[in-house]
Amino acid sequence: MPRFFSVIIDLARVIIVRRDRISSDRNRVIGTFVERLNVLQAAEEVLQRMEESGYFHDVDLESLRTTIVGFLREPTRNLLGLCSYSRMHKKAQSPGERTWRILLNRDLLYSQRHELHATIYHEFLHGILGCEEGHGEKFKRFESLWPL
Ligand SMILES: [Zn+2]
Repeated sequence: MPRFFSVIIDLARVIIVRRDRISSDRNRVIGTFVERLNVLQAAEEVLQRMEESGYFHDVDLESLRTTIVGFLREPTRNLLGLCSYSRMHKKAQSPGERTWRILLNRDLLYSQRHELHATIYHEFLHGILGCEEGHGEKFKRFESLWPL
């Protein structure tokens, strides 16, 4: 029994150490109601422009409408945005299934407002093209279409 107990303590210690290393000392950012409304509104606007552009007629853009959109931890180390893939991204049938969440730099709502939509578009492209494409040729071609 005492031995089992010590194993549990060791496991807990390992988990705590790993968490510290991953999240470092930066704070999670939820954002205010208004900030969250603004960023979701911008995401909707980007999707509408993508739909109206005609470039994505063969893509299930609707599936991206339920993607989690939030803010990056701060300080953000000059990162504008991040697209994380779902655990099942390799078998995904749609961009929405492939994408777990998109995190954005909260400063985009203020000091770099004009870049907010471009960054959301960039992250949606990652969700559409997948992680193997990365910032490859196809990605660059689509990115250069902005502003749609
Ligand atoms: Zn990127």
